Amino acid sequence: MTDAPVEMTTAHAPTAVPPQVLLVNHFKALKLPTFAREYEKVSADCAREDVDYPRYLLRLCELERIDRERHNMERRIRLAKFPVTKSLDTFDFAAIPVLNKSLVLELMRCEWIDKRENIIALGPSGLGKTHTALALGLAACQKGMSVAFTTAAALMHELMEARDEKRLRTLQKQLANVKLLIIDELGYLPFTAIGAELLFEVFSRRYEHGATLVTSNLPFDQWTSVLGSERLTGALLDRLTHHVHILEMNGESYRLATSKKRQKQNVKSKSIE
Ligand code: ADP
Ligand code: MG
Repeated sequence: MTDAPVEMTTAHAPTAVPPQVLLVNHFKALKLPTFAREYEKVSADCAREDVDYPRYLLRLCELERIDRERHNMERRIRLAKFPVTKSLDTFDFAAIPVLNKSLVLELMRCEWIDKRENIIALGPSGLGKTHTALALGLAACQKGMSVAFTTAAALMHELMEARDEKRLRTLQKQLANVKLLIIDELGYLPFTAIGAELLFEVFSRRYEHGATLVTSNLPFDQWTSVLGSERLTGALLDRLTHHVHILEMNGESYRLATSKKRQKQNVKSKSIE
């Protein structure tokens, strides 16, 4: 879209158009919505506080940048397609003592993503693998990184569909270019031979190019049962584990533990009654 020609009225030239109207137009053209919304209020504040012009402008610029950053972050979170948003604020490390808390906190700084390293979170169902992956994904979005969240089954489905519709190249490119790709639940459903080849290509393209986080309920020696071929599994693990942080997540299911706790409390309160 080309910009509308600017009416070259200046603040000094006499004009019939009030400056407020011109300003709103200029802000719109320059894509400064926060300036447009806030400038009158901030100018009143600054007049009251006897703040000079540069500082007035500075306040507006800061507000614009804060708003823009928030919008961008919200956009990244939307594009990541998290099934729900979770953070470590609601994560109880005491419930899973085997998990290396200091490593998780270090990983929340997202330097591993810049270094194009990988994470594999391993453990049975209900141990907080998805929760941790979501929290790390959210942290990456907050740090300005692009993220895509998917499950292994959905990814295979998407790859097969793209292949049938002859848009595999575009999808593979998208999957290669995102800064952090999270593949949840590898191991619940076996891949078809073609699906496994397509998944391998995803890992291959991302190798030393982008960070990947995989969660799985299966130990490595059982990954062949999901991917079908020993050769392919070996090559995939080779790439994935070259620069990797392993999160061991074993113990009692959090869901099970909390529902047991709840039952115990119910029994206690009933015996008091
Ligand atoms: P997994 O992916 O390992 O099967 P989830 O991350 O889906 O497990 O966890 C199951 C449920 O229990 C989720 O609602 C999650 O938020 C919660 N949960 C699991 N572990 C914890 C924990 N240590 N602290 C708080 N909530 C947890
Ligand atoms: Mg899960």
